[in-house]
Amino acid sequence: MSPVAHSHVLNLVAYEPGKPVEELAREMGLEPGQIVKLASNENPLGPSPKALEAMRHTLERSHFYPDGGAWALRNAIAEKLGLARDNVILGNGSNEIIEFLGHAYLSPGDEVVTAGHAFAVYSLMAQLFGAKTIEVPDPGYTHDLDAMLEAITPRTRQVFIANPNNPTGTMVGQKAIDRFMAKVPDHVVVVFDEAYHEFLDNAPDVLRYVRQDRNVVVMRTFSKIQGLANLRIGYGLAPARISAILQKTRQPFNANGIAQAGALAGLLDEEHMRLTKALTDEGRAFLQAAFTAMGLEFVPSVANFVLVRVGDGDAVFKALLKRGVIVRAMRSYKLHEWIRVSVGTMVQNRHFLNELQALQKGGILSGAAHAR
Ligand SMILES: *Cc1c(COP(=O)(O)O)cnc(C)c1O
Repeated sequence: MSPVAHSHVLNLVAYEPGKPVEELAREMGLEPGQIVKLASNENPLGPSPKALEAMRHTLERSHFYPDGGAWALRNAIAEKLGLARDNVILGNGSNEIIEFLGHAYLSPGDEVVTAGHAFAVYSLMAQLFGAKTIEVPDPGYTHDLDAMLEAITPRTRQVFIANPNNPTGTMVGQKAIDRFMAKVPDHVVVVFDEAYHEFLDNAPDVLRYVRQDRNVVVMRTFSKIQGLANLRIGYGLAPARISAILQKTRQPFNANGIAQAGALAGLLDEEHMRLTKALTDEGRAFLQAAFTAMGLEFVPSVANFVLVRVGDGDAVFKALLKRGVIVRAMRSYKLHEWIRVSVGTMVQNRHFLNELQALQKGGILSGAAHAR
């Protein structure tokens, strides 16, 4: 007989990550080099060369525990953003900050408000703490902050605003945010997930609410534009009275020293970020223009991925796998007719499009044009 686990844990459907290159290579008998992975919004240029150098140096110090207070990296983040070190908390990926928020603020029966097609991890974490997720419809696949405000009850503890959101690629602007912040009640923590912030041309400023000592946590990550997803390092920015609470919930060495060193060097490598953003802008425009030419509906994106309607998302996902291209099926987001493709190098983008066009010729995308 097994010990009895919490019902909310038993009922949890675990997060389904993008398929790793090595796994598909094994299954298909392909070389990893023959596979194009456009499934997890990773940086196709790889890590910053400066980050790599810093990490190589730190490898030699692997026998030491990391700096648990992460003094150098937190200082550098604070300095870059005009905040104080006390405002910065590191996570084992920014996803870990979501877990800290659960430890700090969620009890069974509490409510967490998200958009209808929000990043899946918010509701998974809420469920782990026995809290209930209230999903607010997002017309045009964009967060409706007025409706999310209306959804707040006395039991609401957290509202998640992913800006831009994954998997939709849409963002909300400064006016809608300011209107929301003017009215949101004080018993709620507003969490701005800015994993793709550095890809934006007209990024709204929410750090002003950290400086104003409001009940906000802003999350950012080194996994996306910095190309350091493998290291698992991200951060939260919050008023000191909130980050001090979150600090209590983390394990002493949650951000390892190699990650801290890579992140610190990557943070300062403006050139690598500039190159990545330029490549992303070019690739996203290229993909979206091709979808238009193919008669496929897509959600215009401001991030490094695009949600495109292909008919039977699972079938197209599997057919692309057979052709050595990994994208993301969207069934778990209740978007059965869609796939999400990350922007790669131009060579990868063309490769993906060639395969997608071949599927269209083969009739596998035939549902798409009629699907709407
Ligand atoms: C990729 C992503 C993150 C980053 O997660 P890490 O744990 O930092 O790798 C956070 N939020 C959203 C919406 C994302 O898409």
